[in-house]
Amino acid sequence: MPSAGPRHSLPPSALSAALSAVVGEAACLVGRESLLVYECDGLTHHTGLPSAVVLPSSAAEVVGVVRACRAAGVPFVPRGAGTGLSGGAVALQGAVVIECSRLNRILEIDPDDRVAVVQPGVVNADLSKAASPHGLFFAPDPSSQLSCTIGGNVAENSGGPHTLKYGTTTNHVLGLELVLADGSVARLGSRSGFEAGYDLVGAVVGSEGTVGVVTEITVRLVPVPESVETLLAIFPDVVSACRAVGRVIASGLVPAALEIVDRRTIEAIEASVYAAGLPRDAGAVLIVELDGPREALGAEVDVVRALTAAAGATRVEVARDAAERARFWRARKGAFGAMGRLAPDLYVHDAVVPRPKLPEVLARICEIGDRYGLRLSNVFHAGDGNVHPNISFDRRDPDEMARVLQAGEEILRACVAAGGVISGEHGIGTEKQDFMSLVFGAADLDAMRRLRDAFDPEHACNPGKVFPTTRFCVESDPKARGYDRVAFEA
Ligand SMILES: Cc1cc2nc3c(=O)[nH]c(=O)nc-3n(C[C@H](O)[C@H](O)[C@H](O)COP(=O)(O)OP(=O)(O)OC[C@H]3O[C@@H](n4cnc5c(N)ncnc54)[C@H](O)[C@@H]3O)c2cc1C
Repeated sequence: MPSAGPRHSLPPSALSAALSAVVGEAACLVGRESLLVYECDGLTHHTGLPSAVVLPSSAAEVVGVVRACRAAGVPFVPRGAGTGLSGGAVALQGAVVIECSRLNRILEIDPDDRVAVVQPGVVNADLSKAASPHGLFFAPDPSSQLSCTIGGNVAENSGGPHTLKYGTTTNHVLGLELVLADGSVARLGSRSGFEAGYDLVGAVVGSEGTVGVVTEITVRLVPVPESVETLLAIFPDVVSACRAVGRVIASGLVPAALEIVDRRTIEAIEASVYAAGLPRDAGAVLIVELDGPREALGAEVDVVRALTAAAGATRVEVARDAAERARFWRARKGAFGAMGRLAPDLYVHDAVVPRPKLPEVLARICEIGDRYGLRLSNVFHAGDGNVHPNISFDRRDPDEMARVLQAGEEILRACVAAGGVISGEHGIGTEKQDFMSLVFGAADLDAMRRLRDAFDPEHACNPGKVFPTTRFCVESDPKARGYDRVAFEA
């Protein structure tokens, strides 16, 4: 588990003076108590203490901070709200954290062109709120959307329950402003979404903060659907709920969302402030949301009722009104928070498997959790085949911590063996860098490294992430033997 302290030899006072000169003293944190707040993201067992945290309030200040870091030979890491679940925003090698919460302005909403221009620190849900008077919304809706930022969404290519119909963040980003590691500013993409040449916006989305600091984002807005129906299909177990997902997809329907919540998750939700009256006797519930023209939805509801019943649903409820629908979603999106009641730590896994494999993979995940004696629950974007086995644990218990990690690795390998991939939306960060070779060969990783080098040849931006740290890969990565390690490591 990474827990890297400062690896440059600059006196803290010189670094903080250089950074304070750019952002002002109040926006430059160097006290240990302040830095501890930033030692991890949502993956709490991966930690690293930054040398300093700066809170710039303009792109020009970001440029100044990056130049100051470069002059001092200190790496830096962009950070949004710190809700990431793969260690992406953790400062390794004594990096300076560039915290984007003050870059939080919605610069423009153009309802005619269905486009918005935002700074990276805008909170995801705030954009949809601002767009709603125009009948528009920002489609990527991570369950963390009340706190995560659009800059973080871009870096992780985040998804959410409605990814099934609307796509992930990459489908909604038209243009980006990016401060590169040498302090120069690149403007990528275009407002129209059309661009000649290489798709560099596509390369930056999902690059996990390793190619520069995003300082402005132009996004697509989509129309709020005319009508929505939300169904709750109740199943005796999670495996039969998975079978229903296969039937719905095979029918040709494209629901806006297909989410599964298992029994343990329901228990945690119903005992928490997110309680929504979910059936406590259910083995699992499948939330099916349909949206579109009013006339079409009645028939689609009937189809879903029939398909879920055929897969073993014991009953199907339909949200009576918008308030009930909102309650269901609050419960679904509050599920991770509700699990805070079960144990001090929560490890949210993330992998994707082909949807027809969901029943067997879920059965295997539950078997692994039981075999290791862990409190494992499942709440996930089933329509995408994106599983999220969640393990509630206490990292102060070394034996339990070891079992959590072993079980996590077995789960990941089971997903890959089923034809899956190692992350659907949470990214690689520090969490999965040593599992990259499960799905990528040496040539694939080399191509990714070269792409990263084109943006940040010295790996000063968010070092120590994404790429494997194993011996083979270190040897095949010249940067891992060069400036990246020599300049920044003790
Ligand atoms: C309760 C909960 C539910 C979640 N549900 C979902 C979900 O449904 N779907 C999903 O996809 N994720 C989900 N997540 C994970 C997380 O919320 C997303 O990855 C989110 O996009 C992270 O945003 P953030 O602002 O917190 O970024 P951070 O955690 O601060 O950073 C994440 C990464 O983005 C980089 N970054 C941040 N800002 C910038 C910038 N301006 N320029 C360049 N790089 C930057 C960081 O370096 C880091 O690598 C969930 C997390 C929690 C805690």
